[in-house]
Amino acid sequence: MDNTTRAAEPALRLHLNEHTGGCSPAVIEALRSITPTDVSSYPDYAGITASVERYFGVDQGWVHLTNGLDEGLHLAAQAAALAWSRDDRAGSGGSRAALAMVVTPAFEMYEASAAAAGLDVVRIDPEPEFRFPIEAVARTFSTRARVLYLTDPNNPTGLGIPDGAIAALAAAAPETTIVVDEAYADFSGRTVIGPLLERHRNLIAGRTFAKAHGLAALRVGALIAHPDALAPIRRVAPPFSLNIGAVRALEAAMADRRHVDQAVAQSRESRRLIEDFCRRHGFHFWPSEANFVLFRVGHRAAEVVRLMAGRGVLIRDRSTQPGCAGCIRVTAGVVAHTARGLAALEDVLASLNR
Ligand SMILES: *Cc1c(COP(=O)(O)O)cnc(C)c1O
Repeated sequence: MDNTTRAAEPALRLHLNEHTGGCSPAVIEALRSITPTDVSSYPDYAGITASVERYFGVDQGWVHLTNGLDEGLHLAAQAAALAWSRDDRAGSGGSRAALAMVVTPAFEMYEASAAAAGLDVVRIDPEPEFRFPIEAVARTFSTRARVLYLTDPNNPTGLGIPDGAIAALAAAAPETTIVVDEAYADFSGRTVIGPLLERHRNLIAGRTFAKAHGLAALRVGALIAHPDALAPIRRVAPPFSLNIGAVRALEAAMADRRHVDQAVAQSRESRRLIEDFCRRHGFHFWPSEANFVLFRVGHRAAEVVRLMAGRGVLIRDRSTQPGCAGCIRVTAGVVAHTARGLAALEDVLASLNR
């Protein structure tokens, strides 16, 4: 072998909004302390569920833990399909499937989950500048529409849903389960957990420990709602979605608030760096409340993403998503990583302009 060949450095991952700084060291300690009989026993679900209920400040019975929030999104679609198949209206209406409503541009998993559960999908297109299309959503409700996926703040735009919109929609369609995906709520500081969830039994909050807490590889998520809203979910859910590693890691991650606070503070600073970069280059961007920024680099978006990968920096081409022509999405997490990503982007843009 040629001894001048160096092992390629691992790529800088700014494409999936993970915590690129890693999890809390306390998580690794917790994983190391797992014993052989811990591994050979089914995990203590009551204990970890109670801890997560305390963490989110909700009563007993309000949390259902999932193998990543992705599983929670799946379960919501399955529960909707099951309820519809048992419903007389399904028979009398012929063999029409129930509908899942998705407000675009959206996280891809909603459509994947709907498809897996045999639901048809209705897409609601964005308004100019991705203003939340509340009237169009309200018009789309029907007896067939059994689940609506919302994301606050949204992925890939980073924009929040305006105050009052979720409450208005929940009140307008009590028969539709509204899943509010709060994967980035640690960064935005806003949540439906609290009075909104208490008032609306058709609302389910989705949370993940993959982003701000840095547990992406361990797969830990939660659905949070009134026990009546979780009952249909529990009917389609497997009994043990979290393994012992995820359980121990989650206890440790929730206990280390400082690690999360630092991630949130770094993200705020990184967003500022990316926004300044966009202003210097005249790129249109959307003010994000999450740990990423969507911005428009123009018709060469796909090429920019490819050239960045060649420099060891992964970013996300979002240009084929509704309303996102020419747009890329870049994770805004650890400040040093953002700086490295932007330096590479500066080079790539210079090379394209030569
Ligand atoms: C990352 C992400 C998730 C996935 O969370 P996991 O816990 O890793 O499955 C869910 N929803 C949105 C909007 C995300 O960006």
